[in-house]
Amino acid sequence: MVKAVVGANWGDEGKGKITDMLAQNADIIIRFQGGANAGHTIVNDYGKFALHTLPSGVFYGHTTSVIGNGVALNIPVLFQEIKSLTDRGVPAPKLLVSDRAQMVMPYHILFDQYEEERLAGKSFGSTKSGIAPFYSDKYAKIGFQVSELFDEDLLKEKVAKIVEMKNIVLEHLYHKPLLKEEELLACLHEYREMIAPYVGDVSSFLDKAMKENKTILLEGQLGTLKDPDHGIYPMVTSSSTLAAYGAIGAGIPPYEIKEIITVCKAYSSAVGAGAFVSEIFGEEAEELRNRGGDGGEYGATTGRPRRMGWFDCVASKYGCRLQGTTDVAFTVLDVLGYLDEIPVCVGYEIDGEVTTDFPVTAKLEKAKPVLEKLPGWKCDIRGIKKYEELPKNCRNYIEFIEGQIGFPITMVSNGPGRDDIIYK
Ligand code: GDP
Repeated sequence: MVKAVVGANWGDEGKGKITDMLAQNADIIIRFQGGANAGHTIVNDYGKFALHTLPSGVFYGHTTSVIGNGVALNIPVLFQEIKSLTDRGVPAPKLLVSDRAQMVMPYHILFDQYEEERLAGKSFGSTKSGIAPFYSDKYAKIGFQVSELFDEDLLKEKVAKIVEMKNIVLEHLYHKPLLKEEELLACLHEYREMIAPYVGDVSSFLDKAMKENKTILLEGQLGTLKDPDHGIYPMVTSSSTLAAYGAIGAGIPPYEIKEIITVCKAYSSAVGAGAFVSEIFGEEAEELRNRGGDGGEYGATTGRPRRMGWFDCVASKYGCRLQGTTDVAFTVLDVLGYLDEIPVCVGYEIDGEVTTDFPVTAKLEKAKPVLEKLPGWKCDIRGIKKYEELPKNCRNYIEFIEGQIGFPITMVSNGPGRDDIIYK
């Protein structure tokens, strides 16, 4: 049984918490796209952790954590992350890394920084983790696949070719220090040493696991609106954030994905540049930011303050549809308990017309939110375990949004912990 946990919006919806929770009853948790550019925050019996590369199931002894071929694998970051867990008493994870995954190279990170510097005020707001240069190289067919680490002749030849190409850009476009062949080769040797014990054929491992009826979770990073095809291009990430891509980034047949749990946060937040129709500013935003998430809405990787907004039904309906949602997990609802009235964006006004269809970016830039105000519940809902025990206005808020987005909300998260969940 394969289930995907993905985001409906701009990321930071709380996928980590939902994955960690579902991992209790899973055998394998696999990351299928993205890199160490975003993070999941997880609160469990061991404490509070920020994960960037490891799947959110690493805290259990019974699970195997897998890095799929679709991931941008940063080997030093992965190792640091493993160490940060074992240093705090978490048992070393059972880890399998796809021999088809490609590696983020030190020069990808440099190119990311240099390009942001060059673009200055017009930058994309990259986290500078090398993700865009990494995926550009992958599709330009000049990336390094993990399997290639074990073929010394190929490696040498490829290093020479890549250093030659990269140095032209470094010299003439960025005016920065050049790469050296011996250094790059030494770095790849180091990566080989580190990763060798974990490398394997992930798709055949998963094929066998499916035949044995194991439960497999595909863990997405970011959300629909950051998808390079279906999101707010060009203010998107460089790999597909959709559950459908889970089949490719893990190496399984698409029809095996039986449940798609799309995580939707009870209000909106976004990082980086790009249109954000229901965005709020000033004190109103500041208050939601500071009360939001678990200890404020600040990036798990960068510490950047997130942009804040009211729940956006237009974006979320679209986000859930593109994911192929079977279940919505509605998260961080507890945070809204302080509000007398809660505005919700129910439509976009574009050139004088109101629509509930999410538009292409050029139109999105012109969209103004149509807001409807719902009454708040003015109390703390943490600790509640039964849906019927939620205040009436709180249930109204959930059911109103469910009606607007048109997908069933089957889980409501009312706190950051594993057990803070209400099944509806
Ligand atoms: P992800 O990238 O989708 O996993 O999201 P992040 O982990 O970056 O952001 C979600 C934040 O919200 C984290 O700090 C979580 O601990 C926290 N969180 C998740 N679910 C809830 C919830 O229901 N209530 C509260 N208050 N915080 C939550």
